[in-house]
Amino acid sequence: MKKLGFGLMRLPLTDKDNASSIDLSQVCLMADSFIENGFTYFDTAYMYHQGASERAVKEVLIKRHDRNSFTLASKLPVMLLHEKGEQEKIFMEQLERTDAGYFDYYLLHALDKNHYQTASRLNSFDFIADLKKKGLVKKVGFSFHDSANVLDKILTERPEMEFVQLQINYLDWQDAGVQSRLCYETALKHGKPIVVMEPVKGGRLAAVPHDAEYLLKKVHPEWSVASWAIRYAASLPGVMTVLSGMSDRDQLNDNISYMKDFVPLNSGEISALRAVADILRGEQTVPCTACRYCTDGCPRHIAIPEYFALYNRVLKGEEKEFVLKEYNEYAAKGHGKAIDCISCGKCEKSCPQHLPVSTYIKRVASKFDVAEK
Ligand code: SF4
Ligand code: SF4
Repeated sequence: MKKLGFGLMRLPLTDKDNASSIDLSQVCLMADSFIENGFTYFDTAYMYHQGASERAVKEVLIKRHDRNSFTLASKLPVMLLHEKGEQEKIFMEQLERTDAGYFDYYLLHALDKNHYQTASRLNSFDFIADLKKKGLVKKVGFSFHDSANVLDKILTERPEMEFVQLQINYLDWQDAGVQSRLCYETALKHGKPIVVMEPVKGGRLAAVPHDAEYLLKKVHPEWSVASWAIRYAASLPGVMTVLSGMSDRDQLNDNISYMKDFVPLNSGEISALRAVADILRGEQTVPCTACRYCTDGCPRHIAIPEYFALYNRVLKGEEKEFVLKEYNEYAAKGHGKAIDCISCGKCEKSCPQHLPVSTYIKRVASKFDVAEK
């Protein structure tokens, strides 16, 4: 299998304010090109694009391509489960939405210490093992957001898991919170193939500061900045595939150009990335990956990832007056402003990056709302 997977969580939209308005004609062109170039792995989930990602699978892939010409991964949303019976209901809904007949890869979604407890209490591991026995899923695994110790515990207690999906990128490699390297080594110790998510850290590693970009361009002027991040993850032994949440055809074409006949990075290239990581660690930007897991539960309908992106742009030197206009447009469309946050903490419970979201939202408020007064 080629080491590039198509992540279906940041698809192009026809209305940028409506996450479920997937631009199906664009996605058809992208998926066709992906498959024509020999790539096979597509990754969706119950929650992506408010359910529209799984429905897009039916329109884009199932209705238009031989089911054996690609593999499909989806995920059971453990974070939404309260009782056992819900698992069956959700799985049947996923089969109906996608019309896929079966999933080649089926994951418990975003396990951490708490979600592992939920999955254990509700026998989710037995549930997916049973799906495998019935031929409704081919391989079982889980995506993961916690420390290497928690990962080690899960893989020790659940040796039947066949693969893991980990957040790995060159910036989080040594990060004490994400623990990319330690989690990677733990998965290898247990002999589990790895699917990499967030190789570009939600886009952060696609637009690095000028001094960091200069270092990369000096080595390979023709490589895109984002490609360095994907190449880094794909160069790691034991990695089965690297997911890229592609949002347009330029990103797709760029990814295909170097992943079709992939050549791993050499030691000099990895050293350049280490120097870039040092520069990025000095930034004070909010490390949000724009996964949007926090947005549905916010009682004030605050556009959390969008506000963080605007805040980061100002920190990186963009004209505040210009960015403030975009910020105010969100409020005009019915979103709460950052200053409307009531610190309920719901967003923090669902954030796989374990960000202190409400603290960051206060910083956004002091940058954009307080400045307005
Ligand atoms: S803490 Fe603020 S941003 Fe987070 S869910 Fe509550 S109101 Fe929304
Ligand atoms: S704040 Fe956390 S949950 Fe919300 S979009 Fe960012 S990374 Fe995802």
